[in-house]
Amino acid sequence: MQHLIDGYRIYREKRWPELRALHRRLAERGQSPHTLVIACSDSRVDPATIFNAGPGELFVIRNVANLAPPCEEASIGLHGVSSAIEFAVTKLYVETILVLGHAQCGGVAAALSEEPRDPNSFLDAWIGLLDTAKARIKGCSGDPAQALEHESIRVTLENLKTFPFVVRAMKEHGMELVGARYGVADGSLEVLNLENGAFEPVV
Ligand SMILES: [Zn+2]
Repeated sequence: MQHLIDGYRIYREKRWPELRALHRRLAERGQSPHTLVIACSDSRVDPATIFNAGPGELFVIRNVANLAPPCEEASIGLHGVSSAIEFAVTKLYVETILVLGHAQCGGVAAALSEEPRDPNSFLDAWIGLLDTAKARIKGCSGDPAQALEHESIRVTLENLKTFPFVVRAMKEHGMELVGARYGVADGSLEVLNLENGAFEPVV
């Protein structure tokens, strides 16, 4: 905890003075983030840092392997990711949903592993969301981890379209769905071209 307190003191001293006015506005008017980012929980992939975004700009969901489940019945189980998507889309009216994957994703590596799954593991069940994607990359040439990192982004984009409120927002407000993958080692970013299905580097 001492690390966090030390960090907080630096934040209060160095950053807060310039953020004070912005925070006051955000407190008075409420948040109006333009983008929902669905990113991995990985500590190396912080959307606000990567996109040079300040407070109030990004509504962020982070979980293992940047996944969204398909739309399920709301009355069965508890749906943290789905409820955050619903909030961003139906209450905050975000203009864009960005699914942000990354290189060296531990969740993707776990999905590629041939180890038997533990039926009592939340993690193993969650990673099962990548089973279809894993089947799709079978037999592909190249690095399977990179291929599955790309597929994890595509799977999430597909799952997002199973939520009726997402489809409605796309039709009625022109909300966009986009995908990108961040290179942890070199800071590169590649964006999914929805027309040809390829990931293209941002230069
Ligand atoms: Zn990851």
